[in-house]
Amino acid sequence: MIDLHCHIDLYPDPAEVLAESVRRQCYVLLAVTTTPLAWNGNKLIINDAPQVQIGLGLHPELVSQRASEIDKFCELIDKAKFIGEIGLDGSRRLRPSLPLQKDVFRTILKSVANNGGRVMSIHSRGAATETLDELSRHVGSSTPVLHWFSGTQRELQRAVEMGCWFSVGPAMLKGEKGRKLVERMPANRVLTETDGPFTRNGKEPFYPWDVIQAEADLGQIWRLDVSEARQRLRDSLRVLMENNHL
Ligand code: MN
Repeated sequence: MIDLHCHIDLYPDPAEVLAESVRRQCYVLLAVTTTPLAWNGNKLIINDAPQVQIGLGLHPELVSQRASEIDKFCELIDKAKFIGEIGLDGSRRLRPSLPLQKDVFRTILKSVANNGGRVMSIHSRGAATETLDELSRHVGSSTPVLHWFSGTQRELQRAVEMGCWFSVGPAMLKGEKGRKLVERMPANRVLTETDGPFTRNGKEPFYPWDVIQAEADLGQIWRLDVSEARQRLRDSLRVLMENNHL
């Protein structure tokens, strides 16, 4: 199983979540971070566990307080194989910081491109068009994976034409709008995620192994049984890695 977008450091006991992920055969985890200062802390938590990769991130929700950490971000790019979580958030509460978010996002995209490009996990809530505008200008040879994409069908079409990938989770697949978007995504460019612990599964947060629910939903959409859907996800992940020399 694959969780391509999980905030492992934000669970109360990250080590236990990691151990349980292995027990439940969730072998591929992209541990995204929300600030570059969390990068080193995540290295300690994860302690080179082979199934986990750490993304270097600067979350758009934090940009208004942490824009100055962009220098730290650029300093660490060299060491990071994956980037995330980065992007733009245009929801009502964060709209005031959107101009600053764009500056920061653009700086990140340019320095990642100058460092040879990476797989990047990208947030675009309420700002899909703005996010795609920035990507279209500065993506370089990076591969953007749009996490929990919630734009319009037209914006989705544009993202598909630009070559974006998508990561989708059980929370997204529960809703009618999310499912309709996933139906239109190219099946060979879709991977699973949870966005835990921010997403809730009733009283509990979603855990990495809960991607099993997304696999079942994707199976339905793709008219495959769960094991075939899982095989498709594995094949897609291999292609993503090969395309990015990983
Ligand atoms: Mn997230």
